Amino acid sequence: MKFTVVSAFPVLVAAIFAQTATAVVRPVKDCTNTDKWDVVVIGSGTAGSIVAAELATGSPDKCVLVLEAGKNSGQVLKEHDAEKLPQSQNGFFEKSWTTVHESPETAWNTPGTYDVLNCWGGECEYGWPDRRALTAKIVGGGSSINGALMQYPNLETWDAYPKGWKFEDMQPYLDKIEEKMGATSYPSADGKHYNDDKGSDIVKEAMLGIGFRESEDAAFFMPQAYTMGIPRVCAKNGRRTSPASEFLAPALDQTNIQLWTEAEAEKILLDASSTKATGLDIVLKGEKQTIKLADNGLVVISGGGIMTPEVLLNSDIGPGLKVDNDAVNKGLTDKIVSNAEFHVPGLKKYEISPPTQEHQDLYVEKQSGPLAQFGPLLAGFIDASLDDTEPGKKNTVEFFVGASQKDDEVKVYFVHFTPKKDLGGGTFDRDYTTRSFKKAMDVVAEAMGKKGYEQTNEPDKFPLNAMNHPAGTCEIGKCVDENTLLLKGGVTNIAVVDNSLLPEQAVVHSVFSLMAIALRAAGILNNFWGEVQIQNDEL
Ligand SMILES: Cc1cc2nc3c(=O)[nH]c(=O)nc-3n(C[C@H](O)[C@H](O)[C@H](O)COP(=O)(O)OP(=O)(O)OC[C@H]3O[C@@H](n4cnc5c(N)ncnc54)[C@H](O)[C@@H]3O)c2cc1C
Repeated sequence: MKFTVVSAFPVLVAAIFAQTATAVVRPVKDCTNTDKWDVVVIGSGTAGSIVAAELATGSPDKCVLVLEAGKNSGQVLKEHDAEKLPQSQNGFFEKSWTTVHESPETAWNTPGTYDVLNCWGGECEYGWPDRRALTAKIVGGGSSINGALMQYPNLETWDAYPKGWKFEDMQPYLDKIEEKMGATSYPSADGKHYNDDKGSDIVKEAMLGIGFRESEDAAFFMPQAYTMGIPRVCAKNGRRTSPASEFLAPALDQTNIQLWTEAEAEKILLDASSTKATGLDIVLKGEKQTIKLADNGLVVISGGGIMTPEVLLNSDIGPGLKVDNDAVNKGLTDKIVSNAEFHVPGLKKYEISPPTQEHQDLYVEKQSGPLAQFGPLLAGFIDASLDDTEPGKKNTVEFFVGASQKDDEVKVYFVHFTPKKDLGGGTFDRDYTTRSFKKAMDVVAEAMGKKGYEQTNEPDKFPLNAMNHPAGTCEIGKCVDENTLLLKGGVTNIAVVDNSLLPEQAVVHSVFSLMAIALRAAGILNNFWGEVQIQNDEL
């Protein structure tokens, strides 16, 4: 996607090409038997997969180890091995599909499994029970279990970022991610859109009736109020894509990178002066062990907005600790989600748990049909600005509709893109979010009412749930240096790259923005050893 208000863009690209032109390409090191790692990346999630892969390819003379606490997923399996996969919520995918059909498909790369994959309480083995929110524990991280919505962030997303991380700096990286990830509105391999007759068509007609505009880009490129469209998702040829499938899996063919699964980093070990990480205590398949870092080694923490601060605090890094860093574990934010229900007589629900045999066969044989269709089918945007919305900012609420899961009912979800930080110490300002939702829900209720569809929940009573985009717990510029991504506080070789860096919630669903951040961060970290080798060379 090209967007050309930006004068610094050509300068940046020229600078990158100049660096690439003088790049020294080294042979790939064989790290099969190494016991000292040049790079340890904690977490193979959305950000970690990109950083690890780009470091392995950009610095081929370095040995890179990726530690992933969870099990494998369809995102990096070279050959299908159902026994090693975690079971999806109700288990039927691995058990019936793979044995009956001897198919390589797994729940983890089948788009339509979203509703049976998510485990909102975090109680499944690919979540972290006992943590404050659902956060992924599986190769690919959130990108293996999420709704895969890709939205090109609005310009204002970057307002709160430090110099060097504004929109004009990020645009080339966003474009590269768009190209690489295959964001599409039509994930099914046969190019058709499925499940539109399961409620989204009803809401679309209602919203058109009150003046909303529909367009192909509406739910992707810098979403605007009063527009709607089919969302884009990460998929290629009917299968989910993620940074693990598109970046990490190909990199793992190299001899200088290894991925260890069921490998949880417990603690980073520091030298006596607490200025250098020297190794890590980990638990590998239930066994404790210590791994060593090479003399000029680097640790990159990519555990996500909830787990990264936990690793830091366990390692004596945080406010008033051995490495004194005031910004660790501060400023947690999330998007907030709610819903409203409408009575639509005659609407038939979509059978997903389990799916019909016909749908299973269509997917297994052709990667097509309703099981190739991710959850959200229609997304639109409402300006919910209030008297106390910060001047110059937007207050956007998204609505989206998936396939109905109950006969005679349409459930419309609402996402508060820009919750206010709660200065009293909570995660978000409840009152502001509640009033924003109310304003947006009234718009949808009016549209549905005009078509004769009654709202069945009490209009003033709706849930406020975390959206699972936890961010801000090691903010860029405060917790890490924005030029190096290295932690502040005196330690010289620990970086953080994941949602923790985000100063604010992106004004869209955020994985797209995060992938671009991770790509740029990897380019910077490839300079950690003081020489430019290959820096995001395809940009
Ligand atoms: C159900 C759900 C639906 C979502 N839908 C969307 C969507 O449609 N669009 C969108 O933009 N965003 C969506 N999100 C949010 C998005 O997926 C996350 O914001 C994003 O994945 C965060 O990326 P991350 O790299 O920070 O962390 P993660 O992707 O969570 O990766 C962290 C990884 O680190 C591993 N890890 C953590 N601690 C350790 C440790 N100590 N040792 C070893 N490994 C460790 C974890 O197991 C995990 O694999 C959704 C999230 C969820 C949970």
